[in-house]
Amino acid sequence: MSEVITIGEPLVTFASEEIDKSLVDALKYHKIMGGAELNVAIGVKRLGHSVEYISQVGEEPFGQFVIKTINSHQVGTKYISSDPDHWTGHQVKQLVSKGDPQVVNYRKGSAACYLSKDVIDKVDLDDVKIAHMSGIFPAISAEAQESFRKLYKRLNDKNILTTFDPNLRPSLWDSEEQMVKTINELASYADIVLPGINEGKILMGSEDPEEIADFYLKGERTNIVMVKVGPDGAFVKKSDGEKFTVKGFKVDHVVDTVGAGDGFALGVITALLEGKSIKAAALRGNAVGALQVQTPGDNDGYPTHDELTTFYEKEGVSEE
Ligand code: ATP
Repeated sequence: MSEVITIGEPLVTFASEEIDKSLVDALKYHKIMGGAELNVAIGVKRLGHSVEYISQVGEEPFGQFVIKTINSHQVGTKYISSDPDHWTGHQVKQLVSKGDPQVVNYRKGSAACYLSKDVIDKVDLDDVKIAHMSGIFPAISAEAQESFRKLYKRLNDKNILTTFDPNLRPSLWDSEEQMVKTINELASYADIVLPGINEGKILMGSEDPEEIADFYLKGERTNIVMVKVGPDGAFVKKSDGEKFTVKGFKVDHVVDTVGAGDGFALGVITALLEGKSIKAAALRGNAVGALQVQTPGDNDGYPTHDELTTFYEKEGVSEE
């Protein structure tokens, strides 16, 4: 079995090839695979760790494309079911020279929305060391949220370390109030919470990293909060009161910020799997995030161990 497990919805992504054109005007797109939790899984595998991804796709060519692509990344597909009655979720993404691209999602009623909680009972957690949970999957449908909660409960009962990234997607929720309430509840079941500084404002009304950390440290299981502060890196606080900032890396040319937060999560997860300290884990999170923003795809920048070592050498830093 695998060291890491995650649950999410893969998205067939149509990425614009026309820089700074709106999605209204762009005519040329190419097809790639996206999905936040899947990005994490791909990056975890690239750094040498085994990982299973739980999901459901349609039986049509898009679903087959997703499974073929996930296989090519050597991420486990044992718990990806095919649904003959629903289509695979997809999205259209702008190409921008600076800032965040516009992304339009087509995912309401997708196959992943119908992932049955019976699948969760069959998931073998025996060798799982870390599970990565994010706020997207519980937002896509009531059924998906039920499956997500069932998995979370099994993980908590077995005391398996969990990371939680709020990954706010307001368009998937009925109201902001419902989103905030549910995300903050789900965060409280995680050992490590990974909010972004901008999410803090929406979720608990502050942009102050320490106030955000203190808020999530009140969660019933949470003992570490790592607040992602974009180019500035990460602010970390632990339940014993220890706190520190790990500075981000200077990037001269940001190509696309999508996948930076997922990169941070996978950096943290793999470092912890390798027995590194929390500080080293945050450093690796920053490194993977900085590498990712320099590439156009959603996960192209995630490094192998050799690439990570080369990056650290160039930057003159080390995880020790
Ligand atoms: P998203 O959800 O858009 O991926 P996020 O809010 O979850 O983002 P960010 O803070 O934007 O997360 O990015 C995650 C990490 O990636 C940061 O903590 C930082 O280490 C790195 N990073 C992001 N943007 C930059 C940048 N412009 N330069 C250097 N590092 C960056």
